[in-house]
Amino acid sequence: MNLLKDTGFRRIYLDNAASTPLMDEAFNEMIPYLTTHYGNPSSLHAFGYESNKAIELARKRVSSVIGAKPSEIIFTSSGTEADNIAIKGAAYYVRKRNPYKNHVITSAIEHDAVLESCFDLENNGFEVSYLPVNRDGLVHKERLAELVSDKTALVSIMLANNEVGTIQPIQELVKIVRERSEFILFHTDAVQALGKIHISCREMGVDLMTLSSHKINGPKGVGGLYLRDGSRVISLTSGGGQEKDLRSGTENVHGIVGFGKACEMLMQRIDSINKAISRLRDILVKRIISEIPLVRYNGPSDSDIRLPNIAHFTFLGINGEDLLIKLDEYGVAVSTGSACSMRTQKESHVLRAMGFDLPEISGSLRLSLGPYNTEDEIDRAITVLKVAVAELREVSPVRNTNIDKFKPKSL
Ligand code: PLP
Repeated sequence: MNLLKDTGFRRIYLDNAASTPLMDEAFNEMIPYLTTHYGNPSSLHAFGYESNKAIELARKRVSSVIGAKPSEIIFTSSGTEADNIAIKGAAYYVRKRNPYKNHVITSAIEHDAVLESCFDLENNGFEVSYLPVNRDGLVHKERLAELVSDKTALVSIMLANNEVGTIQPIQELVKIVRERSEFILFHTDAVQALGKIHISCREMGVDLMTLSSHKINGPKGVGGLYLRDGSRVISLTSGGGQEKDLRSGTENVHGIVGFGKACEMLMQRIDSINKAISRLRDILVKRIISEIPLVRYNGPSDSDIRLPNIAHFTFLGINGEDLLIKLDEYGVAVSTGSACSMRTQKESHVLRAMGFDLPEISGSLRLSLGPYNTEDEIDRAITVLKVAVAELREVSPVRNTNIDKFKPKSL
């Protein structure tokens, strides 16, 4: 039976860590900037002024969601671009002033936008240290303390991981670094954390922070970089000098407007949304581990150190990609990890760094929830998942002897 065609089954979207649907409130505010308000924000006439005013309102809204000043927000084309400016821009700036400072520290579980920027730095004479993590995906604090030296220019550690959802104790990590030197820049990639946990750039003490709009029901193609007053980075683009000369190029006005509106809505709803999402996540996790044999829930058991919207599992003896494809056939959209890795088909560097072996990595699946998911959808997704797992196990029965690792983990 074709579940989608024969039963009118509506597709269920459980891949909100990859991207999210655009909220109506943001869309409605964007429309005039796609139609009547088309002026270039740099132009010195009423059309330009209209666009510029909209950007400045958005800057205010984005800054207040992380406790920053509007002047500390640089709009970019994506989280990826903000990560590039933060890492390369900061490292090159520091080394230009002091050639001795050519060391960068990051973690082994960062998003590719950070890791690739670091590889780029290595190709240009920097030494980069990749901090190891434990089985829950938490970075080794002692190792960080050992690695910081007077040669360190920048430390970049993500606030929350995109595959398993582990939240790092950034405030503590900043303290460890600052105890060694006040002059080391600290960047955190907060793309997945934004909207899921309360963020205060001041409390955390970071100098740079990356944000992205499309993970919080804002439009795609817009990101933000928080750059603390007094911190400097060099520009990676040459051009008209927009965004304090750090991101030249005519601004994506409608996108920025949508991002600002999504942030404003978030400020009003973050607690109620996350309460609802956590409840659905708990139902999902409890039912999957109790109703499907040989499955393990990955990441920290302590809900204080994991995002409320990401649930990550390993299904013993099953290939995660086969499961993803089957689920998609049956109308349920999930992921095996980060959307970027899906395209390149490489094994998850995050799970590898967490100490997972190949069968554990290949059997993994990420389900990520959003504010528009309902309990009925979760219920239907679990029914479909049970069918899909049973079908795949029938074709290829579990022969793995390593079953001990799959004893249910208490929540
Ligand atoms: N950083 C993290 C942790 C992410 O999860 C992502 C996207 O998945 C990015 C950066 C890149 O953001 P964008 O899609 O806006 O380029």
